[in-house]
Amino acid sequence: MSDFPKTRDDLLRNIRVLDGGLASELEYLGANINGPLWSAHVLEESPEKIVAVHRAYIEAGAEIIETASYQVSRFGYAEVGLDPAHADAALLGSVTLAREAAAAFPNRRIVIAASLGPYGAALHNGAEYHGNYDCTFTDLVEFHADRVEVLAKARGREAPDLLAFETLPSLAEAEAIGQALAPHPELAAWFAFTCRDELHVAHGELLRQCATAVAAFPQTVAIGVNCTHPALIPALIAELREASDKPIVVYPNSGEGWDAEARRWTGSSDPTAYGINATEWRIAGAQIIGGCCRTRPVHVREVATAASNSPDP
Ligand SMILES: [Zn+2]
Repeated sequence: MSDFPKTRDDLLRNIRVLDGGLASELEYLGANINGPLWSAHVLEESPEKIVAVHRAYIEAGAEIIETASYQVSRFGYAEVGLDPAHADAALLGSVTLAREAAAAFPNRRIVIAASLGPYGAALHNGAEYHGNYDCTFTDLVEFHADRVEVLAKARGREAPDLLAFETLPSLAEAEAIGQALAPHPELAAWFAFTCRDELHVAHGELLRQCATAVAAFPQTVAIGVNCTHPALIPALIAELREASDKPIVVYPNSGEGWDAEARRWTGSSDPTAYGINATEWRIAGAQIIGGCCRTRPVHVREVATAASNSPDP
């Protein structure tokens, strides 16, 4: 990736605010995200809506934005009858859209992170929240290598600054990504895990063990937690601090839960409360904070305020 900063260590220096949820914001703008590829097909149908969401997050204070590619993969596209070239073009196109949004803010340094979901996200059955996949380790390596190879060859506006592997449920998947990245030591990546309690990732391994494993990869520029209840975050930050001295990134969900029986969201998504939490997370040791499911630009605005009012960890 020709556009990477000369020193990978500088990439996240002074970067504190990540964006928030993409799908919920696209829905708010009237995009239909109910297809099997979730927000991925919005890439083709209404790319201008994706640019609008990116811009809203940058306006709210985001210094890193994630591309709309969480569910883009050759494997996932094949499941719905689309060829590999189609998936690769969508992946690169998502980076171009993020760069287009960032270009509207010429005086701000905006880091573009390619959002790369886990294998389970391509199955569209919620498997990323337990990580019990019916596939081999080699399958997992290949799934991730397909996307890594495309992004490693990308140049100019198609090249992201960073590969954001996220909602990772298991140690095995993190190790598979390490193998997929191995031919490209020049890349920068972060690893964010989805956790089921204050100690364990969704599949059951200790977060501390997962973080120790990924800290050893030369590409790793940050380690963190996403798509997890905000109440668990302080304890999980403490676990990450025990495992490595890499920058810590957290982007939990809004705090609401889905009540399947009543078919509605429950709990609080109060942006002010989210901002108060963000201050706590910074004091606990998180450098970069954003939001995952059901967080919106108002949440990110509160995070940005918290970041400017509290010292760096
Ligand atoms: Zn999420």
